[in-house]
Amino acid sequence: MQWWKRAAITAAILIVAALAVWRAVEWVRNLPPEQSPFATLDLERPIGWATGMQFDRIRTDPLACTAALSASEIETSPIEDRVEGDAGQCGFANAVSLERSLFPYSAPVRSSCPVAAALYVWEREVVATAAAQWLESPVARIEMIGVYSCRNVYGRSEGRLSEHATANSIDIAGFRLENGRVVRVLDGWAEGGPDAAFLRAVRDGACETFQGVLSPDYNRAHADHLHLDMGAYDICS
Ligand SMILES: [Zn+2]
Repeated sequence: MQWWKRAAITAAILIVAALAVWRAVEWVRNLPPEQSPFATLDLERPIGWATGMQFDRIRTDPLACTAALSASEIETSPIEDRVEGDAGQCGFANAVSLERSLFPYSAPVRSSCPVAAALYVWEREVVATAAAQWLESPVARIEMIGVYSCRNVYGRSEGRLSEHATANSIDIAGFRLENGRVVRVLDGWAEGGPDAAFLRAVRDGACETFQGVLSPDYNRAHADHLHLDMGAYDICS
C-alpha cells in the first residue's frame, strides 16, 4: 500500500475513534443524575441504578451529606455532637433533627445525616408509591420506635456496637393511614394479602437507599419492626 493511502486510513480511524469517545462523553454528561455514577446525589430525583452508589458517598462524607440535605426540600436542623458510653463508644456527629419530611413520624426523629437523607427518598419513592399500589388509603404517619440507643446489637453485653448507638439507624413498626387504620409489621407481615405485599415492597425499596435493612424475614428479633441503617454492612433481608 502506498504511504498516503496508509496515512489516510489511519487518519480516518482516528477521527472515527475520537467521534465515538466524544459521543460517549456527551452521553454520560446528559444522563439524568440518578443514572450517572459521577453525579452528586439529588434527593428530589427518582431512584436510578446509580442512586445506591451516590448514597454510599454521602454515607462516608459528612459534608456531601449536609449538602444533599440543604439542596433538597427536607427540613432538618443540626444537633450538637455527643459522645457517650463507658468507653465513649456511643454518640453522634453531624446528626440532624428531622423537622419536616414527606410524612410525619410518631416521635421526633433525631438521626445521622445519611439516615435522614435515605428516609426522605424512601418515603417518596417507595412508601408513597407502594401505598398507592397496595393500600386503600395514603400513609398519614410513620410509626417509629427508636433511633438513638447506646447499646450493642440485640442489647447484648458483648459483641458489635449497634448502628443505633450512633443514631445511624431507625426502627419502624408500622404505617398509620389517612383513614385511621394502622398497618403493623407485627401482624401485617405474616397475614398475606395487600398489607403483606405493601410491607415487603417498602422493605425491598428501603434496600435501594439504606445500607442495612432487616425485616421479620431476617430473624425473630425483627418480628415487629423494620430496621433501616446506614452502617458499613450491606444487607437486605
Ligand atoms: Zn434497629
